[in-house]
Amino acid sequence: MKRICLLGATGSIGRSTLDLLARHPQRFCLETVAAGRDDAGLATICREFRPRHAVFADADAASRLRAQLAAEGIPTRVDAGAEALVAAAADPDSDTVVAAIVGAAGLAPTLAAARAGKRILLANKEALVCAGELLMTAVHAGGALLLPIDSEHNAIFQCLPGAPERPPRGVRQLWLTASGGPFRGWTRAQLRGVSVEQACAHPNWSMGPKISVDSATLMNKGLEVIEASYLFGLPRTRIRVVVHPQSTVHSLVEYQDGSFLAQLGSADMRIPIAHALAWPDRIESGAPVLDLCALARLDFSEPDLDAFPCLKLACEALDAGGSAPAILNAANEVAVAAFLNGRLGFLGIAAIVNETLNRVALSSAASLEAVLAADAQTRRVARALVEAGVG
Ligand code: NAD
Ligand code: MG
Repeated sequence: MKRICLLGATGSIGRSTLDLLARHPQRFCLETVAAGRDDAGLATICREFRPRHAVFADADAASRLRAQLAAEGIPTRVDAGAEALVAAAADPDSDTVVAAIVGAAGLAPTLAAARAGKRILLANKEALVCAGELLMTAVHAGGALLLPIDSEHNAIFQCLPGAPERPPRGVRQLWLTASGGPFRGWTRAQLRGVSVEQACAHPNWSMGPKISVDSATLMNKGLEVIEASYLFGLPRTRIRVVVHPQSTVHSLVEYQDGSFLAQLGSADMRIPIAHALAWPDRIESGAPVLDLCALARLDFSEPDLDAFPCLKLACEALDAGGSAPAILNAANEVAVAAFLNGRLGFLGIAAIVNETLNRVALSSAASLEAVLAADAQTRRVARALVEAGVG
């Protein structure tokens, strides 16, 4: 029986994970759940799964949940705050931590899980982007096991032999597939006035709002290049991006002998999550089975870096190293939030990220404190740029 701590339980990845836990009650037991502020969402989860412990970032949401659970006689203990989140991720009550908080807010708990030697199922790519070396070193030193559930990285992991190895043997390069998002084939001129609804309407995947916008700008693929580089220990030059609108080939590994191995499946996050939950076993995921004849064709093309400069900015941040990926990520989080709130246009996202990278001096990303300082400074600069109407 694996004992699960689910960080980001009320989100899109959280819900897919809960669906799998409910399908396999004999394999998994939900010990701890954590979320930002959705007390109604967490109350529903506590009613169904009766976890031992629930943690909120927000203290008011925690008070509301505590009162609600007490009224219903549900014995889940409720805590609040960033420190409680970190403690929950390292708590010996669970052996497996599903890291599915969105954004840099997930870094400290993910790092704590790594130091505590957990089996970590990583959805929270921003944690690895902000602090790749730090997190991978902590995984190694803590004796943790890091299993990717981002679909591309999970696909690559499935195409590599055996346990995760950095760098993997015999590999020439990795190919990350990108659906191209809702604006594939659009020009910069067409992208100028797009709405939040259009940007969040992903053609193949149903996801939280932040990653949906990241998919529309291709920043998501940029973050994934950085994620792949740290996860698999390969330089940016050996990680390629190819647009594949069907989202059926989830990524590929090209070997030195010319073999390409790919993982295919329907676009349902329960497949990578099921793989990582059960690894090295295989379990039912509930995902629709791929119908190859109905699919008929698979298309591949080069990404358009002029219309979608965020992918290039992310690759440059990886090359620059140090705090550059953390700066890129924090500027992007501020810009995406401003876009979602109607305070910034779609093309403004790349403009804010670019201008912020120009203004914030690079520093080291060797400690959690250094990364959090770079993150905080970047947010101040990026917010000021949004206020000043840049972009
Ligand atoms: P979401 O917005 O649907 O959910 C985010 C979760 O994080 C929620 O439970 C929210 O309460 C919690 N949260 C937010 N801020 C928090 C904070 N400060 N402290 C504690 N909890 C906080 O997002 P999502 O789509 O589920 O994505 C989660 C992560 O998984 C992201 O890093 C995303 O890039 C990654 N991911 C998602 C998908 C997908 O299909 N949704 C695919 C690949 C990777
Ligand atoms: Mg992905």
